[in-house]
Amino acid sequence: MAQGTAPRIALLPEVVRNQIAAGEVIERPASVVKELVENALDAGAQHLRIDLEEGGAALVRVVDDGVGMGPEDLALAFDAHATSKLREPSDLEHIASLGFRGEALASMGSVARCSILSRPHGAEGAYRIREVGGRRDALCEAGGPVGTTVEVRDLFFNVPARRRFLKRPSTELARCLDVVQRIALAHEGVGFVVTHDGKRVLDVEPGMDLVARIRRIFGAELAGALEPVEARDGSTQLFGYVAPPRFSRRDTARQMWFLNGRPLRDKVLTRIVREAYRGFLEDARQPVVFLRLAVDPASVDVNVHPAKSEVRLREQRRLFGFLVSALREAVARTDMATPGERLLSIRERRHGREGGTPHLPDPGPLGGTRSPEPFQVREVPGRALESSGASGAVSDRDELRPMPPPHAEGERDSGWEAVDDLRGPFLQIARTYLVRALPDGFEVIDQHALHERTTFELLRREVREGEVEIQGLLVPEVVECSRAGVELVREHLDALRRVGIDLAPFGETALAVQGLPARLRHPDPEGLVRDVIEVLERSGKPPGAEEVIEEVLHRAACRSSFMAGDELSPSSIRDLLERARSVGETDQTCPHARPTRVRFTLADLEKAFHRR
Ligand code: ADP
Ligand code: MG
Repeated sequence: MAQGTAPRIALLPEVVRNQIAAGEVIERPASVVKELVENALDAGAQHLRIDLEEGGAALVRVVDDGVGMGPEDLALAFDAHATSKLREPSDLEHIASLGFRGEALASMGSVARCSILSRPHGAEGAYRIREVGGRRDALCEAGGPVGTTVEVRDLFFNVPARRRFLKRPSTELARCLDVVQRIALAHEGVGFVVTHDGKRVLDVEPGMDLVARIRRIFGAELAGALEPVEARDGSTQLFGYVAPPRFSRRDTARQMWFLNGRPLRDKVLTRIVREAYRGFLEDARQPVVFLRLAVDPASVDVNVHPAKSEVRLREQRRLFGFLVSALREAVARTDMATPGERLLSIRERRHGREGGTPHLPDPGPLGGTRSPEPFQVREVPGRALESSGASGAVSDRDELRPMPPPHAEGERDSGWEAVDDLRGPFLQIARTYLVRALPDGFEVIDQHALHERTTFELLRREVREGEVEIQGLLVPEVVECSRAGVELVREHLDALRRVGIDLAPFGETALAVQGLPARLRHPDPEGLVRDVIEVLERSGKPPGAEEVIEEVLHRAACRSSFMAGDELSPSSIRDLLERARSVGETDQTCPHARPTRVRFTLADLEKAFHRR
């Protein structure tokens, strides 16, 4: 611009306007797929074929059998803000269609080589219109089936900066598939076929229900392990499936929410899911769920973002409580046992990869940061041992030490047959793991993890029912701590007593422990006081807050549980198993979500020994 001249305002030419708008709606091939598939669904299509080339960057073609467009509509399709779905401002209040802005085709027309071929029901023939980088060709007659075919080739061919921004074809393809998978799960009654460079990569038939779709897309193992959820709160309805914690992943790619039929990703929904799995999942793992939520359309604002995967919900707070409790119930019903077969196959895979690629793309349902060989006789027992003060050395003789069955000699030589699952025989390995026979296999138990989980659940139950039994200490134990620690505890003495911890300030830098929950086996007053202070300091919340109670109870349970390295008698093993049984389903993981038991069925053994 020449110096001294004032800038002149001018309206941007339409092509430029559309290119700018395209920046919002069309980011990559997956956004093209999303827009075209939604258009086909809005047109009432029952069969969709989606052909992709080079991850969608070279071609996205969507063929549908929907209502089609006549020549007058076709002539307008590439115009900005041309839509058949919204006529009046008030229509925005109750949008039932997936699209409504009339931006998508205009955007694509400005940044790719596009064509639409369409023939409405009952029409003699089809028409075609093309638009290449914002330049429109005249409408022409053509041959074609009833329905619509939209082709988008060479996305961003005229916007090199954005074309360079695209990732490798495999990455773009994965994103396209993610879009179609989500949409396909949301739309029973509609069939989807996706091809990539001529190969079929997804195929869902119209008649398949949600589970059948999940099975086809994600496999039978996941589909077979899902637990259904169905709940209602006023006009809000929840329906779907949750997977057992062992299917969790590092990302939220398999968390699929559908709000009134529309797939959406939303931070609040992710938080709801995490909350529902709290205590069943290691931190940093994301559960797998497929959930449909139906709410009154008037209580959702879908107009928040052009990409429309975010919405705004009214009454979020009430919804949060309702969803978390409905989901948590279902999560507790899932089969939380860690199947031994899975561990074996993970081990095999890891061994197979040694020296190969160091990077595992998806560690599978169990993966993550935990010990890669959880089923190994550990020679150096873990952290728990240190605090128990037991000797670290485990001699050869100790490693395999079958325990005598509790029956009288000669009564019955049951060997490894399971007589009654709580009567043994049991085998303690490395003073850390318990093995017991089951009718159809055997089970390995981490004695510390199971004891900790059991104690925690029993304590929590007592706290909930308001009847924690406090065992008074004959001589209060005085624990030195910081001035700030004493002050913090002083504020919350009553709340702490409600969870069974009876403390009293003792001078300015010490606390006297007067009583502890009777449930704790070998309470460790000093450790407990330190835990309480640390948890209070860190959370900044009062001890009545549920997270704080849980954390304090976790730690108390941990400190008073059998440790790795403790030698257990058959009767204490039986006691432990009995108590574990009384807390029910939740005993499959410890409060920190490590597995407490790993189960091997006969089928697992047959696989491991290649009998099958
Ligand atoms: P929107 O979907 O927001 O209305 P689009 O730019 O995606 O805007 O589409 C513009 C219009 O073109 C739609 O409103 C619809 O009338 C028509 N259209 C697009 N795709 C199809 C299709 N596959 N079948 C029938 N009509 C279609
Ligand atoms: Mg649209």
